[in-house]
Amino acid sequence: MKEDVNSKSSVGIIGAGIQGICISLFLIKKGFKVTIIDRDDPGKISASYGNAGHFSPYASVPINRPDILVDVPSMILSTTGPLSLKWNYVPKMLPWFIKFIRNCTKKKMMHTAKYMHQILDLALPAYDELFQEIDITGLVESKGIIYFWTDKDLKSRELEQNIRKELGVKQQLLTPHEIHDLEPHIKKIYHGGVLYPNARHARNPKKILLKLFDLFLKKGGIFKKEEVETISFTSNNKPKIITNSESYIFDRAVVACGAFSKKMTDQVDEKIPLDTERGYHVHFKGYDHLLSRPVIFLNRGFGITPMEQGLRVVGTVEFGGLKNPPSKKRILNLVNNAKYLFPELKAHDDEWLGFRPTLPDFLPIIGPSKNYKNLFYSFGHHHLGWTLGAISGKIVAGLVADENTNLDLAPYNSTRFI
Ligand SMILES: Cc1cc2nc3c(=O)[nH]c(=O)nc-3n(C[C@H](O)[C@H](O)[C@H](O)COP(=O)(O)OP(=O)(O)OC[C@H]3O[C@@H](n4cnc5c(N)ncnc54)[C@H](O)[C@@H]3O)c2cc1C
Repeated sequence: MKEDVNSKSSVGIIGAGIQGICISLFLIKKGFKVTIIDRDDPGKISASYGNAGHFSPYASVPINRPDILVDVPSMILSTTGPLSLKWNYVPKMLPWFIKFIRNCTKKKMMHTAKYMHQILDLALPAYDELFQEIDITGLVESKGIIYFWTDKDLKSRELEQNIRKELGVKQQLLTPHEIHDLEPHIKKIYHGGVLYPNARHARNPKKILLKLFDLFLKKGGIFKKEEVETISFTSNNKPKIITNSESYIFDRAVVACGAFSKKMTDQVDEKIPLDTERGYHVHFKGYDHLLSRPVIFLNRGFGITPMEQGLRVVGTVEFGGLKNPPSKKRILNLVNNAKYLFPELKAHDDEWLGFRPTLPDFLPIIGPSKNYKNLFYSFGHHHLGWTLGAISGKIVAGLVADENTNLDLAPYNSTRFI
């Protein structure tokens, strides 16, 4: 890679989620002058605050797979299942669903798996570069993540295992006895499971995000708490960002607003089919001793992570857009599912709704804008945006600096939906 071609250039980053903050840190390392603009305090309510905290380098098998289409109707009808719809949003999301269905062929699934694997494989080393500069004692655990299921002959488990084997992902199948040895407090409802030994988990994603943000400020980064309203361009192609109170001109800019990025890309004439998969969490305070590592109960599509806040119960894929209110039923579903695994759980706290930024082919957009050479994108990391924070940050910083890379970045380009 070439070094420092643009040292001293200014870059504006829209969004202080894990993407925006990681991009900024890698840009500062290269000598750029970086300003982050976010309408909120970092980590206040964003997806980067409320996620399940998994660092999941193994998770290359996407949701767009041939068998999902068969499972969807029963998932929607199930009261304990992970999938739900806000019916008022279905007409708006129809074009997204059609694109999604087109991406559920075996060939498209393998394409997504290959290119998710390309970046997932680099995700933890990229974080390690950033973690060298902050104190993460007690905040990141390396005990792997367990998935378990009750239905012995769920075909989809085999499909995932085979693809991961093909990609060289480390996985260890578990018998019920082994699951019990690793996590003795879970009610013994499972018939099998798998441990991804290389996975890690965050005990408090918000604290990690804020430590990285403090590092950004310490290194001279500037933060503006303002809402970005428009992006336009000067006559010499520099991005002009207008917020609710100011206007800024940068040499280059990056859109990293997670699920909210579409508002920006629509303005620069790119029709990118970004939408959101809404997800929820609740906390059971004081119960984190019941688990050593995150677990995911696949039949019901939810997970529980032991965190500083207690047990964080996370799940649901709800198609309902950014504006619908939270669904009490989905929260109740999570609470009941958690109590099914741990009958001793009592009252829960902190009901949270978050927005996964998701494209119909389940690949993120990491790359330059189609129409403006000084504008870059990093969004659409769906269920894996926390895991992919540092590596996307590293890649985008390289692109902004006009560096060469050995990675094949074409599959993440925004133009793939044209
Ligand atoms: C329930 C749930 C569980 C998850 N679990 C995991 C997990 O275990 N592991 C994993 O890898 N991933 C997980 N994810 C996914 C991950 O959390 C997201 O992909 C990731 O956080 C997205 O990061 P981001 O920086 O792109 O967006 P965000 O974290 O959403 O940040 C975007 C920022 O942009 C700001 N913004 C938006 N619009 C504007 C505007 N107009 N002006 C100024 N600022 C603006 C917002 O305020 C926000 O701070 C989960 C997500 C959910 C919802």
